[in-house]
Amino acid sequence: MEVLARDHMKVVFFGRTSNGKSTTINAMLREKILPTGIGHTTNCFLQVEGSDSTEGYLLTEEEPEKPKSVHSIKQLASALSNVKLKENSLIRILWPKSKCRLLREEVVLVDSPGIDVTPDLDLWIDKFCLDADVFVLVSNAESTLMQTEKNFFHKVSARLSKPNIFILQNRWDISAFEDDVDEVKQQHLERNLQFLCSELNVMDKREGEERVFFVSSREALASRLKEQGTPTPTGILQEGFQERLFTFANFERVFEECISKTAVKTKFEQHTNRGKNITTELRSLMEKMLRTSQEQNERVNKERREMADELDYMEKQLTLLTTEIKDKIKNMVEDVENKVAMTLKDEIRRLAILVDEFDRPFHTDQTSLDIYKQELHEHIENGLGRNVQSRCSATLQSALETTQHEMTERLSALLPEEAQQQINTVMPRRDFEIAYRLDCRRLCEDFEEDIAFRFTLAPRLAPFILFDLNIYSFPLPPTKFLFPFLLRYIKQ
Ligand code: GDP
Repeated sequence: MEVLARDHMKVVFFGRTSNGKSTTINAMLREKILPTGIGHTTNCFLQVEGSDSTEGYLLTEEEPEKPKSVHSIKQLASALSNVKLKENSLIRILWPKSKCRLLREEVVLVDSPGIDVTPDLDLWIDKFCLDADVFVLVSNAESTLMQTEKNFFHKVSARLSKPNIFILQNRWDISAFEDDVDEVKQQHLERNLQFLCSELNVMDKREGEERVFFVSSREALASRLKEQGTPTPTGILQEGFQERLFTFANFERVFEECISKTAVKTKFEQHTNRGKNITTELRSLMEKMLRTSQEQNERVNKERREMADELDYMEKQLTLLTTEIKDKIKNMVEDVENKVAMTLKDEIRRLAILVDEFDRPFHTDQTSLDIYKQELHEHIENGLGRNVQSRCSATLQSALETTQHEMTERLSALLPEEAQQQINTVMPRRDFEIAYRLDCRRLCEDFEEDIAFRFTLAPRLAPFILFDLNIYSFPLPPTKFLFPFLLRYIKQ
C-alpha cells in the first residue's frame, strides 16, 4: 500500500563525506538549498521534495507537525552545528515546485550523511534506500571507489533485484591541472564499469558507459547561479569547463530518462504485475472458497435429502405402527369385553351366593326398605366388583403390559441409537389401574318393589352397567341377566 500510495520518484545520493553530494543536489535543483562545506558537513538525511506553497520550509521527524524556516537547515543538518539530531533522522525540505522543474516532476532527492561516517549501514539502507528508485553515487576524481562505497552497493543489490545506479566522478575540475587526464579518466571508467557490470552485475557494458559521468558539481552550480557574475566560482574559466558543464547536463538528461522509465516500470509495470498477482491470488482464493462452498452445499443437500428420506420412512412407519396399534387396541378391547362379559356372566350366575351373604335385618316400612335397598346395592356392587377385579385384572394387566412393551419396542426401532436409550425415560410410566364400577343404584332406580310379593318391571331399565377400565367404557350385558336374581332376593 505504501509503494502504491507513493506518488513520487525517490533518488538517494550517497558517497563519502565531502565528495559533493549536497553540491550536486543543489546544482540539479539550481538553488543553494542544502548546506555544503569542507569536511563532514551533513549530519542527517535531508529529503528535498516539492511543495505547492510559495515559500520553502522544513519538517523534522521529531516535530512533523511544526514547519520550520529553511534558514534553520544549516543549524539542524550541519555536522558542525551544536544542535544535533539523530544520525539516522530525516529532515524534509519542502521547496516550492514553482521554483524548480525537477520537483514539479514529483522527484524527491535524498542527501545522506556520508557512508564513511555511518556506522550502521544496514539500518539506513532499510530505512531510506529500500524504496528508492534511483541511486546516485557521488565519487571524487582524486580516488577510486572505496570498499565502503562498494559494500553499500552490494548490500543494496542483495535486497533490491536490479537497482538503478549512476556514478558521478565529481570534482573533475581538479583534473584540469593534471597532464594525463585521459588515462586517469579511462582508468576510472574501467574500474567503475568493472564494478557495475561484473561485480554487481546490474547492467551491461554499453548501459554502464551511459551511467558514469565525469563532472564538476561546483562548477555546474556556480554557472547556474551565475555567482560573481561569472560561470565559475573562481571567475576563471578552467580548461574543460564547457565539457564538464555539458557532461553534467547530459547526466541530468539520462537521469531524467531513467527516472521516467523507472516511473513507468515501478509505478505502472511493477504495480500492474503486483496487481495481477494479487488478483490471481484472490481469484484462486475465491475459486477455492467457491469449490469449498459448493462441496459443502452438495454435502448439506445430500444430508438434507437423506434426512427427508428418513423422515418420510419414519412417517410411513409411524402411520403403519399407529394402525397396527389401533388394531391391537381394538382387539384388546374386544378381548377385554369378552373376558369381562364372560366373567360377569359367571358372577351373575353366582349372584345368589353374594346376595346370601347379605344379612342385614329386613323391615317392611318404607324407610328401612330404602336403607336396606341401598346397602344391598352397595354390597352387590362391592362384591361383584371385587370378584370381577380379582378374576380379570391379572390377565388384563399382563395383556396391557405386553402390548405396551411391544409398542415401545416397535417405536424405539424407528429412532436413532442415541435416542433409543432415552425412550424409557420419555415413555409415560403410568400403571393401568383397572377399576370395575357397577352402579347398582342407577341400575335399579326404575325398580319398584311390591312388598306383597308382586312386582313389575319398570318400562325402562338402565341399559348398561358401566364398566370403567380407566379409558374405555364397555357396554355390558343387559340388566335382564342381573335382575331376576336381585328380584328373587327381594322376594325372599
Ligand atoms: P557532501 O559532504 O558530499 O555533501 O559534500 P559537499 O557538497 O558539502 O561538498 C564538500 C566540499 O566540496 C564543499 O566545499 C564543496 O564546495 C566542494 N565541492 C563540491 N563539489 C565540488 C567540485 O566539483 N569541485 C571542487 N573543486 N569542489 C567541490
